[in-house]
Amino acid sequence: MTSFVYRKKEDITELVIHYSASDNALHSDISVIRDWHVINRNFLDVAYHFFIPYSGSIQVGRPELAQGAGVKGYNKHTIHICVHGKTDFKPVQFIMLKSLVERLCEDYPITKALYHRDVDGGKCPNFELEWLKEFNEAIQST
Ligand SMILES: [Zn+2]
Repeated sequence: MTSFVYRKKEDITELVIHYSASDNALHSDISVIRDWHVINRNFLDVAYHFFIPYSGSIQVGRPELAQGAGVKGYNKHTIHICVHGKTDFKPVQFIMLKSLVERLCEDYPITKALYHRDVDGGKCPNFELEWLKEFNEAIQST
């Protein structure tokens, strides 16, 4: 892939949540993750659409309509969000994650917000959010 592949708004139906698997405060910025992906993995850009560092700010990665690279074979219809941390997370990160998920559900026909591990059975992320379960039950019942 040498340039972004753009989707139509109506084709974006799922959100995928990741963690950075690093507790290093120096890694708590999307520019660091972008360098890993672009320099070390030869990606076009950072794999995610959003990154939430310890500060709780919402940092923008790929444009929302551009296809991400968060999960191989699972990028065409998804928006990828990565929360910084491994064993150490800050409450503000999850508050901001929730507001981001809610905002994206207003803007796109989202039917599900998944953890990366739900797709491939891996370990990403290592947290479980009670509100996410409720959130999925709510959007699936509407
Ligand atoms: Zn992941």
